[in-house]
Amino acid sequence: MSTLTSASRVFNFSAGPATLPLTVLEQIQAEMLSLPGVGSSVLEISHRSKDFDTILEDAVARITQVLNVPDSHEVLFIQGGGALQNIMVPANLITEPSQTADYIQTGSWGKKSAGEVHNYGQLNVAYDAKESNYDRIPSQEQLKLTSDAAYVHLTSNETIQGVQFHQLPDTNGVPIVADKSSDFLGEPINVADYGLIYACAQKNAGVAGVTIVVMAKDLVKRSAAKMPSYLSYAKHSEGGSRFNTPCSFGIYVTGLVCKWLQDDIGGLEKMAAINKAKAKMLYEVIDGSAGFYIGHAQPADRSTMNVTFKMTTPELDSKFVTDAAKAGMTTLKGHRSVGGIRASIYNAMPVEGVETLASFMKDFAVQHG
Ligand SMILES: *Cc1c(COP(=O)(O)O)cnc(C)c1O
Repeated sequence: MSTLTSASRVFNFSAGPATLPLTVLEQIQAEMLSLPGVGSSVLEISHRSKDFDTILEDAVARITQVLNVPDSHEVLFIQGGGALQNIMVPANLITEPSQTADYIQTGSWGKKSAGEVHNYGQLNVAYDAKESNYDRIPSQEQLKLTSDAAYVHLTSNETIQGVQFHQLPDTNGVPIVADKSSDFLGEPINVADYGLIYACAQKNAGVAGVTIVVMAKDLVKRSAAKMPSYLSYAKHSEGGSRFNTPCSFGIYVTGLVCKWLQDDIGGLEKMAAINKAKAKMLYEVIDGSAGFYIGHAQPADRSTMNVTFKMTTPELDSKFVTDAAKAGMTTLKGHRSVGGIRASIYNAMPVEGVETLASFMKDFAVQHG
């Protein structure tokens, strides 16, 4: 570990683009002028070259290993972020305009996703947590699912509100489509439970510009022959994630992040245990603060990735953000729609960063309580 680089780094609690593992940044830095045996940087080589073949194949192989992706599913890299997936999902999976897609809205991102469906078919909002200001995950009984829906969409972790599904709903065989942008690779999952997973990489899996899609091969076949080519999963699949020039740097970084998960962390079971412990530290301070800190999410539905809370006045919230920044902890301001504080503690946030924040929170409560 280079002390020169780490010494000047803050604990960055940004929701995304977000902090990356230091070892990953150091490897990027070390290989920036010349990839070993290549003599050029990843930024300068053809996406059709043998050298890039190796990088892409390695990234796919590592995601497959880390996430334990079964043969029934395939891994694709696409650009356009979560925003394009909000369009590609209904464009490909709704096969006729009379068909319904079910959307479970537990926060801002899920609501945004649902907003694209009307261009392709019928939207059924199976649940909307609006009345409680998106602080919870519905129970099975609260879901109004359509029996022959094209798919059920959910946002496994609502990055803005800090609510997370800890158990998937029973959709009675209808494929689940999950926006896992902010909890992808945060814990082991059973990929076979999902029809399609998408995750823009800039939260937990790399840098902005690449989106990882893990989807059932039989759903790839649903893509209509006649549709705008770039929107078709089948075209991206046939092109081996190189329908056009991909986000080559982003794919390379995602490969390095997976390598870090494998070699430094020891896999997703271990990562999940670390993430749980980190989240617990902050929630314990909130719960033990005698009402000084008010958590946003219902305790059972709290996110391990984005911890959201506020104090009794917006003035205290601002002072918290300013004082924390002075103490080397940045980007703690909550999203404008929720207010308060949001601490994003993705995989790459070191335990030490969360310990520093927890101790700052305790001191702040004593000073201002
Ligand atoms: C950040 C985020 C997105 C954003 O997608 P982009 O189009 O890449 O900006 C989508 N969904 C969730 C859950 C997110 O956290």
